[in-house]
Amino acid sequence: MVPRIAPLLAALLIVGLPLITKAADGAWQIVKIENRDYLTIQNIADFYGLRGDIRVVDHRMLVGDAHASLEFNGNPREITVNGVKQWLSFPVVIRDNQALVSRFDLAKTIDPALRPTMISNLQPFHTVVIDAGHGGQDMGASSVSGYEKSYTLDVIADLKKALEARGLKVILTRANDSYLSLEQRAQIANDTADAVFLSVHFNSEPNGRAANGFEVYAMTPRGAASTGDFMVTADQFKPMPGNEYDDASFALANSVQNSLLGQMPEGDRGVRRARFAVLRLVHAPAILVEGGFLTNGPDGSKINDSAWRQKLAVALADGVASFQDLSEHHRPPKLLADYRSERLPLTGTIVDPSANAARAALSCLPLLPTANLSSSFALLPASEPGFLIQPTIP
Ligand SMILES: [Zn+2]
Repeated sequence: MVPRIAPLLAALLIVGLPLITKAADGAWQIVKIENRDYLTIQNIADFYGLRGDIRVVDHRMLVGDAHASLEFNGNPREITVNGVKQWLSFPVVIRDNQALVSRFDLAKTIDPALRPTMISNLQPFHTVVIDAGHGGQDMGASSVSGYEKSYTLDVIADLKKALEARGLKVILTRANDSYLSLEQRAQIANDTADAVFLSVHFNSEPNGRAANGFEVYAMTPRGAASTGDFMVTADQFKPMPGNEYDDASFALANSVQNSLLGQMPEGDRGVRRARFAVLRLVHAPAILVEGGFLTNGPDGSKINDSAWRQKLAVALADGVASFQDLSEHHRPPKLLADYRSERLPLTGTIVDPSANAARAALSCLPLLPTANLSSSFALLPASEPGFLIQPTIP
């Protein structure tokens, strides 16, 4: 299909971008682009108390400090929050050297990343349903060394031990080389009370590009584009079971990605969104982890190393435990910087004592301020089939 880019660009360039004007103190400065609410980075930075130069220079911008930060690196579908890449549902728009972010992405990604303790429907859990991707006749990706279905099975054995050592009960969707449909995997999670769901996979790159690094997927919010989508279509407005846990699934995904990147020096391919069956159909917080590229030489050799896979399992377990701490005790999950500062050589544990206080202060801010908005979370237009999303930069 030929992407219908021209009408969107024309709309953006000709009619879609009103001038940015200074907002009154404390008010959101809404800019309508393609019938969607956008907010300026200045507005967002002011609300969260992030300091720095908000101008986008050479496609880059960074506001904030070691306690909380937002960074733009040129890809309109990405914002880095506290050092971890987040994929947005709608593209960042640059206007007058300032980035504008959709109100949807502020509510569904940036706010829960900056203030996870403000997520309203988090429930304590004591069981983790772990799903080893593929199995039986479904081999998954393959390298010269082996099949994805075998590597995932090996990782979940270590992950089970690591989670049990952290006091969590574990249910496996498969404990041997057997085939289960995606629906059967989701059903096992749905038959388990008091649980979260984690599916383990390894990636493949069919085009031979040297992609590498970790991806963690959470369910795409209703009416939004998945990371791989170019369009929002009418059927994406239908509510799915997984949408009841959007924010919790996102927080679980972000906790796990922070742990992975904080403990293993691999590439950050971001917290992503997808409507995979195991995310869409599960009635619980659910994520799918791609633990590197099996088909890529350097990543593939690491995945083939059992010691590396054990580290991966421990980092996954730490991320889940960090999310459990948030769900049960409302403690902010550990961030990339927390993991890395704990691992500094020779100096022992160095955690900036003001960091947690500064993060706690973020949670003392009110819900997203809506004084000048008609309703607090009326994020979705009534219907928007066929809305074209700006293509991502690969
Ligand atoms: Zn897979």
